[in-house]
Parts: sequence; C-alpha cells; structure tokens
Amino acid sequence: MKTIRESAREVPVLSEVDVLVVGSGPGGLGACLGAARAGVSAMVVERFGCLGGNITAVGVESIAWYRREKTVDCEGIGIELEQRAKTMGATSPEPQSKSQAINADMFKYVADTLVQESGVTPLLHAVAIDAIMDGDVIQGVIVHSKSGRGAILAKRVVDASGDADVVHYAGAPYRKTPKEMMLPVTVMFSVTGADKKRFLDYVAANPTTYKDWGLNWDVQKGGKEDDLFSPYLSKPFDRARAEGVIPAGLKSIGGTWSTITDSGEATYLNMIHLTGYDGTDVWDLTKAEIEGRGQALQAIKAMNHFAPGFENARLRTYGMTVGIRDTRKIEGRYDLTEHDVRNQARFDDSIGIFPEFIDGYGVLVLPTTGRYFEIPYGVLVPRTVENLLVAGRCIAGDAISHASVRSMMCCAVTGQGAGVAAAVSIKDGVTTSRVDVARLQAELRRQGVRIH
Ligand SMILES: Cc1cc2nc3c(=O)[nH]c(=O)nc-3n(C[C@H](O)[C@H](O)[C@H](O)COP(=O)(O)OP(=O)(O)OC[C@H]3O[C@@H](n4cnc5c(N)ncnc54)[C@H](O)[C@@H]3O)c2cc1C
Repeated sequence: MKTIRESAREVPVLSEVDVLVVGSGPGGLGACLGAARAGVSAMVVERFGCLGGNITAVGVESIAWYRREKTVDCEGIGIELEQRAKTMGATSPEPQSKSQAINADMFKYVADTLVQESGVTPLLHAVAIDAIMDGDVIQGVIVHSKSGRGAILAKRVVDASGDADVVHYAGAPYRKTPKEMMLPVTVMFSVTGADKKRFLDYVAANPTTYKDWGLNWDVQKGGKEDDLFSPYLSKPFDRARAEGVIPAGLKSIGGTWSTITDSGEATYLNMIHLTGYDGTDVWDLTKAEIEGRGQALQAIKAMNHFAPGFENARLRTYGMTVGIRDTRKIEGRYDLTEHDVRNQARFDDSIGIFPEFIDGYGVLVLPTTGRYFEIPYGVLVPRTVENLLVAGRCIAGDAISHASVRSMMCCAVTGQGAGVAAAVSIKDGVTTSRVDVARLQAELRRQGVRIH
C-alpha cells in the first residue's frame, strides 16, 4: 500500500488521571465505575456523543435475555445497570426472559447519571488514536476530537473499545477471526406504526421457539432450548422472498424482535445479519452501513406485506452505527476456552462469574440450569504491555468462549474486574501484571461482585 510520513507534532496534555478507560459500553462503564468506587480518579473517553456503547449507539436492548428461572447470574455493576435503568423508567419487560429490555435513548441519561454520581470524568466526542508508550509500559493515549489532538496521561489504561484499539496501537498481540467466519454485523432499526395487539395475537397463534432458529441459521443446540419461546421472525421474510416482494436471494433478513410499545413502536429489530465484514476495516464499515440500511427497508416492506400488525409500520430510526459483534481479541495471560465455559471452570484468580450461556458461531446454549463458570483475571491482561488491561468483548479467549463473554452483562463483569484491578494496582504500587489477586477480589466483593 502506498504510504506517506506524517510529521511529528507537540500536542497538549488534556488531562492526567489515575485510570483512563477507552470506550463506554458495558465493559467501559463497568471499568470506570469500578475504578472510581475503588477510590482512584477515573476518566472515560468515548468516540460518540453518548455513553453506553452498543446499548445506546446500536440500540441493543436485551442485556440479559438469557436469564431463566434457574439461572445463577453474575452480580455487580451489570445488574446495577439493568436495575438502575428500571428504576429510572428506562426499561420494559424483555419478552423471552426474566430480564429487562433497556430503552436505548433513556439509557444515555442513565449512564450520564451513574458516571457523574461516581465522580468519573467523561470525555465524549473523542477517539483514541494512539497509545503513548515508554518501552512496554503504557502511559496514556492520544485522542482526536473537534478540539484537535491531545494527550491523556494515565497511570493505568483500560481498553474497553470493543475492538481492542488501544491494544492494537500499543503493539500487544491479538487475534482476529478470519473475516469469512466473523460473526455477522447488523444495522439495527426500529419502526413506528405497529399494531401491538394484532402482532402479539399472531405470535400467540403461530408460536416461535428456538427450534425455529434452525430454519434460517445453522445452529447447534443441546435440545433443552428447542421448545422455549423465542421472539424470532422468519416466516414473513420467507414468504416475501417466495412471492417476489423482496429479492429471493436476500437471505440475510430474519431475526429477533423485542419491545413493542403500546403506541406501536418496535424498538429493537435485530433482523439484518451481514456476513463477510470486518468491523476494523473502514471500507467494510462503510459498505455495511449502506447495505444494512437498504436491507432494513426491504425487511420493513416484507413485514408490511406478511407480518400481521406491521402492515402500516414505517422506519423510526436506524442505530447510530452498524453493530459489530466480533473483531480483535487479545492474546492474554490466560485465554478462556470453550471447555471452560461448558464445564463450569473455576479459577483461583476469578474476578466474577457468568452463567453457561453461549450464543454465536453456530452454538446456542441457554442457562436453564444453575451452571456457571468463573472468569479469570488473566483474560484481561495483554501478554506484552504493562499497565494496560482490557474489558468487554475483546478479552482473551477462543471463538466459543467469545460467544459467551460478548454478552453485555458479562462485559460489565470483565469491565468491573479491570477497573478495580487497575485501581488496586495503583494503590499497591505494582504493575497490572502483579496485582495481588486476594486484594483485587476483596475490593470486588466489597463492591458486590460474586467471585466464586
Ligand atoms: C446487533 C447486535 C445485537 C446484539 N445483541 C445482544 C443481546 O441481545 N444481548 C447481549 O448481551 N449482547 C448482544 N450483543 C453483543 C453486545 O452488544 C456486545 O458484545 C457488547 O456491547 C460489547 O461490549 P463492550 O463494552 O465490549 O463494547 P461496546 O458496547 O461496543 O462499546 C465500546 C465503546 O467504545 C467506543 N469506542 C470504540 N473505539 C473507540 C476509540 N478508539 N476511542 C474512543 N471510543 C471508542 C465505542 O463507540 C463504544 O461506545 C449484540 C451485538 C450486536 C452488534
């Protein structure tokens, strides 16, 4: 590829802080709140104009759709996000589970409130574009914003960008799933003008279960999931394809719905699954946005024709950005495995638990039993860079473990673990790779996290 050399420049130091968190999704919120509550100064930098990551920027509302009667769930900031959203009027019951669906727009305000209450300094509209390194020790990041470039110096950095951007800039090793096998990307959309009663009557008369996922998606299940209700919509799209309402080859349309309000808004239509796109390639992102927006309109057209209750539905919003599920994952001090997730792994350096829930790479396991696994501190620790931790979907592990830990609730667990570890390491005067696990676990417990 042709290149040019950028000139070196002096940049202002915008801020100096103990713990800097890059990215404000469930991982980043867990990290900045966890760090601040552990008694150090914390800052969260976010490239968009709102906190919340996929919850607010994409519109992913189902933070715990896996939760069933017997699920043993994690504890800590993730649960707090769900409950606080509920008490602030920002949720509705999620249709398939014992959980709340979060209203994407209201959650912007919920996140602002939580961050301000905890004394975390937010910086919105600022993209981290480089790591400031002293040998193999990170010292902060360079951000770009409308104010130009600037440095934020930090004793510890938590990369919660989803894509492990800071890890990439810092030169620490990571893996990426080959593009043709990456989980699909989605342009999320919502509609207005739905007739809730008519649609729910149709669903009651034509109940859909997880078995139906097999109609369009190649998914292995253990069998125990098959007969459970799933808010899955495929038949109207099959019919629209068969009857020429939408192109017969448009197989990427079909998926799940969630909240439908009494005033006729269907707020989370997770119906477009585009494969072969890499969320760290700006040309792919551009193509996916444009392709996805077009497909969402095709989906609405199909629903207008064949989904009772959606005859008069019209586009309400697209997600602010295309939703990305799967990009870089660090090579960690420990790499979580499918075996760990499926066999209730236990670790001495556990920073939290998560139920046996897998959704991705052709596998669906719902935590209908009380089985759960522990998440070790090592999956947050990049192999070669000191004082940098990761949180959220870019933690270390194989494909199937990613299909579990990418869940927003689990991202909050790894976020809180990373933020608290960063804080404890500062207080103890040790680097992040030498954190005293007993002290880390004690602070996490004090913050309400279940460790074992
Ligand atoms: C369409 C879709 C549907 C999904 N459905 C569900 C579901 O139903 N339930 C569920 O639990 N999970 C679901 N997921 C997965 C889940 O949303 C993600 O795995 C999870 O949000 C990841 O959390 P995170 O904190 O790691 O990253 P994110 O939520 O992606 O947050 C990362 C944040 O970092 C910011 N950022 C990125 N790079 C930079 C940078 N360089 N500088 C500054 N800021 C930066 C981003 O703007 C973003 O706000 C879904 C994902 C998608 C895409």
